Amino acid sequence: MHRLAILCISLLLCACDAAPKTTVERSATPTAAASLVASSILDTSKLSYVMGKFNPEVDTAFIPISENFADRAGMYLQKEAYDSYLKMYAAAKEAGINLQIRSATRNFDYQKGIWERKWTGETKLSSGEDASKAFQDSVVRAKNILKYSSMPGTSRHHWGTDIDLNNFNNEWFETGEGLKLFQWLEAHAHEYGYCRPYTAKDADRPNGYNEEKWHWSYTPISNEYTLLAEKHLKDNMIVGFKGSGVAGELEVVKNYVLGINHGCRH
Ligand SMILES: [Zn+2]
Repeated sequence: MHRLAILCISLLLCACDAAPKTTVERSATPTAAASLVASSILDTSKLSYVMGKFNPEVDTAFIPISENFADRAGMYLQKEAYDSYLKMYAAAKEAGINLQIRSATRNFDYQKGIWERKWTGETKLSSGEDASKAFQDSVVRAKNILKYSSMPGTSRHHWGTDIDLNNFNNEWFETGEGLKLFQWLEAHAHEYGYCRPYTAKDADRPNGYNEEKWHWSYTPISNEYTLLAEKHLKDNMIVGFKGSGVAGELEVVKNYVLGINHGCRH
């Protein structure tokens, strides 16, 4: 028993210290995640992934997504998340479901582009409004952008573990082909480590982004990043873009980064 215990501890330390490219060694179990917290050995060097401060094109933890599985070339995922996605894709195909990745890893600079185009009104909000004209107050403007878009430094799309599938309208998933696809994912995605962080807001998920039926997360890695964010990501670290000054007032880490479906956490 003693030797077994030492082996288990060694494996945990190994998984924690390893770069994401060796995440295949990491246990996906909630027990492992809890142990990481209990023993305070969370790898803070991975905060650069949590905050999107890397380039997936050159980072060896990341792999390009084949155009066969996406709507365009040039998207990336962490290798372990991609391997599991391919298995999920094949199983869905067998069931007559055609999954397609519409968005995957977006680093800080990419997210900054999305955010600032909405902030300045260059891109309209999904409501059709020009945020720069409709919302003069910075807090109100940020809140409206935050219905569907993250502040740079706080997006799960930084992590290389999260994907948007097939369609960016919730309604598409409520009838016909979209409903069939959604029901299949709800029933089977967990078998491949994927879960849906942005479920409908309710008493269990009162804060955060609006519901996104297209957004799925690879929890064997993203759970660790959620724990990292919970422990080490602070609102005053969210800087470097237009409107970042209201991150503290809006408590973006607590309300948005951690404002996810509890079933997705551990
Ligand atoms: Zn998304």
